[in-house]
Amino acid sequence: MSKLEIHQIPCLNDNYGYLIHDPEADMTAAIDTPDTAPIETALRSHGWQLTHILNTHHHGDHTGGNLALQERTGCTIIGPRDEADKIPGIDREVGDGDTFLFGTHEVRVLGVPGHTLGHIAYYFEDAEVAFVGDALFALGCGRVFEGTPDQMWGSLEKLMQLPDNTKVYCAHEYTQANAKFAITVEPGNADLSARVKEIDALRARGEPTVPTTIGLERRTNPFVRPMSEEIQSIVGLVGATPAAVFTEVRLRKDSF
Ligand code: FE
Ligand code: ZN
Repeated sequence: MSKLEIHQIPCLNDNYGYLIHDPEADMTAAIDTPDTAPIETALRSHGWQLTHILNTHHHGDHTGGNLALQERTGCTIIGPRDEADKIPGIDREVGDGDTFLFGTHEVRVLGVPGHTLGHIAYYFEDAEVAFVGDALFALGCGRVFEGTPDQMWGSLEKLMQLPDNTKVYCAHEYTQANAKFAITVEPGNADLSARVKEIDALRARGEPTVPTTIGLERRTNPFVRPMSEEIQSIVGLVGATPAAVFTEVRLRKDSF
């Protein structure tokens, strides 16, 4: 397996930008561009040349640095076809099911609409990592701004089909707030209680709670656990469809 180096960059208030580097091909991509300066600082400190930007969706805290970075580095911008008109500087449009090469790595594009209609995730099967933007968070999921809750549920189901050991790099540090909500809808989940303690300890030391893994989310994230009898009973939807339970959980979090 060839190597993929990943560098996590706190940006703005609670965003994470990422640099990924393929040492064999000497290629470097920014996953989203919340800001310019911290990304350039990280590039300089590693001695990496930016060759690509991979955008997950069109929101400004994910694309705000696109044009400045493209102007300074001449990098190629890859982004979601279904919202290409809103991705500054986009050179190459990709959508669900597409694959492309980043150096020696095959990248699979997953359409994960809901937060925005064209939102995509980038899955590196050989490196066992996924960059999911604002579709899935540690103990949370993105707000459903443009799509429907059904669509968002379909997107989360798709992500949950990835192998349990897949590392999940989300675009925000929202975990502690998500944990406070999660524990109210599944208080009897021992894995969740243990995780909440770990999260509090990490944040008390100022450390990130991201990345997470698909397996950990499957065990603890209420948004991907609508089959949990406890969640169904707490939201008053025993025996309802997963999509219906998800919709109710999402609604409750919106006003939590
Ligand atoms: Fe967003
Ligand atoms: Zn965001």
